[in-house]
Amino acid sequence: MKVAVVGAGVGGVVCAYFLAKAGIEVVVYEKKTFENVTYDWHDDIAKTAFERAGIPNPPEEFYYDKRNWGFVAPFSTKHIYAPLEVATDVTIQRRPFLHWLISLAKEVNVTFEFGCAVELLVKDGKVCGVIQNGKEIAYDLVVDSCGVDSNIRAALPESYNIQKHPQSGEVFSAYRAFFSKNDVTVKDEDTNLAYLLHNGQKGISWCIQDPRENCVDILIGRIDGVSDADIAEAMDSLKEDNAGLGDRLLSGGKVCRIPVRYPLTKMVGDGYAALGDAAFMTIPMLGSGMASSMLAGRLLAEAVIKNQSTSVESLWEYQVNFYTQCGVDHYGIDVIKRWLLSAKPEDIKFLFESGVLSEKDINSGAGGSTLKLSLGDLIKKLIKGISRLPLLLELSGMLKKSEKAVKLAKAIPTAYDEAAVLEWQNRVDRFFAEL
Ligand SMILES: Cc1cc2nc3c(=O)[nH]c(=O)nc-3n(C[C@H](O)[C@H](O)[C@H](O)COP(=O)(O)OP(=O)(O)OC[C@H]3O[C@@H](n4cnc5c(N)ncnc54)[C@H](O)[C@@H]3O)c2cc1C
Repeated sequence: MKVAVVGAGVGGVVCAYFLAKAGIEVVVYEKKTFENVTYDWHDDIAKTAFERAGIPNPPEEFYYDKRNWGFVAPFSTKHIYAPLEVATDVTIQRRPFLHWLISLAKEVNVTFEFGCAVELLVKDGKVCGVIQNGKEIAYDLVVDSCGVDSNIRAALPESYNIQKHPQSGEVFSAYRAFFSKNDVTVKDEDTNLAYLLHNGQKGISWCIQDPRENCVDILIGRIDGVSDADIAEAMDSLKEDNAGLGDRLLSGGKVCRIPVRYPLTKMVGDGYAALGDAAFMTIPMLGSGMASSMLAGRLLAEAVIKNQSTSVESLWEYQVNFYTQCGVDHYGIDVIKRWLLSAKPEDIKFLFESGVLSEKDINSGAGGSTLKLSLGDLIKKLIKGISRLPLLLELSGMLKKSEKAVKLAKAIPTAYDEAAVLEWQNRVDRFFAEL
């Protein structure tokens, strides 16, 4: 069997590593050079992500414990913060980490072609390989790890019933930049601030002033596009609230796109499987996707190795396992995210400042778990928010819809049957369209 992995993101490389370890011939095509692959910055990932993906822990010099987020409600100056006793996430240098993953894959004979953008080869309505510089190369399986705007997914035959492009409201445009630090003392609880519906706009911003870094990490993310004016306005208000944020741009400064929606309802077809951002596997609240992509990489390789087949029926097992192990929760979080984005900024401010929504509630969504409230929790929240009963009822209705979304995701047909899968896909799309 021969497999092409298109895109050397973390999920694609993990998948290539496991396939090659089992003796399968794998070539990874990456349009960037080895030196420029992925990002020249650090991001957060759960400490458990490496074990869940079945890979060794990366060298310790690549990461350190992540501090907990403090949250700031729209148009508020109050920082809502509860320190974690034990850090659950680490902040990892993305490029050294990916280079290390690539070295693991090379040890088991994965071939890498850097500086090489490829297209999809389709014949008689079936995916059958890639096109590199006009040359057709046959493969039994094309793993699409090309990110949210994958040209491979966009070129799939209609009969695959796989969504080709994200829709409006499903992509987060994030300006990421690293600025100089002003010489001021920052309290521990003010070093990692996330601003919800920042300046009343649909999205979040963050300002991270970690004492272990010599720069200030800024993200200004908005749904469906962030303009220069949005960036300038957000920078002004971040500077007002963070005296340590300096003026000099040290690195970054560009806008990237991240999917923030439930995973694809169909991510596989004959000879094709989508992985990572190409399959919308990020957590819909903050856009974190490294952990789920690596887990998916292992699950896809396991299904291929076990079934020794790349038919849609065999690959469907991968999708079902991904849904069971993490995708279903993303359905619930997507409902919460949509509600937060459509809510009035003053309502969100009230929910936070009254304590109805705690930093624990928001942290659970940001970290990938759905919000689960016990009866006791609900009663406590009712007492805190009794002055705004209609809003509480709306919140409770949203939580019910979030549970319903998880239930719908869990109803994914366990074995591949084209008609049953199509029927389920339509039910899911209708559910989200009607929210
Ligand atoms: C600003 C920002 C902050 C983020 N913060 C976090 C975070 O804190 N934690 C977290 O877990 N995740 C974070 N993410 C998301 C994370 O980067 C992705 O979810 C994760 O890396 C999985 O992405 P991927 O491998 O699927 O795609 P990508 O990382 O987008 O990789 C796709 C690769 O495919 C290559 N490619 C595309 N088309 C072709 C082609 N035709 N031929 C060959 N190669 C091609 C691209 O060059 C690229 O290298 C962040 C993303 C951004 C942009």
